[in-house]
Amino acid sequence: TYVVTDNCIACKYTDCVEVCPVDCFYEGENMLVIHPDECIDCGVCEPECPADAIRPDTEPDMESWVELNRKYAEIW
Ligand code: SF4
Repeated sequence: TYVVTDNCIACKYTDCVEVCPVDCFYEGENMLVIHPDECIDCGVCEPECPADAIRPDTEPDMESWVELNRKYAEIW
């Protein structure tokens, strides 16, 4: 799954939302998040993010970001 990280905070672009084929972006408190169960791991959103905030969860130390993305995505 892909995960939105801190560079998203205060970013006003929504290019990622527009390209996601499964609409799995949701509004977090001050950033967008990706629902980890809905993301199909296509990678299309990653290069679209001008803030470089979208990272694969296979990178080191991503656990807390995955949890935060899940927490806000599941509110909706
Ligand atoms: Fe959507 Fe694909 Fe990005 Fe997952 S990797 S959030 S499915 S665009």
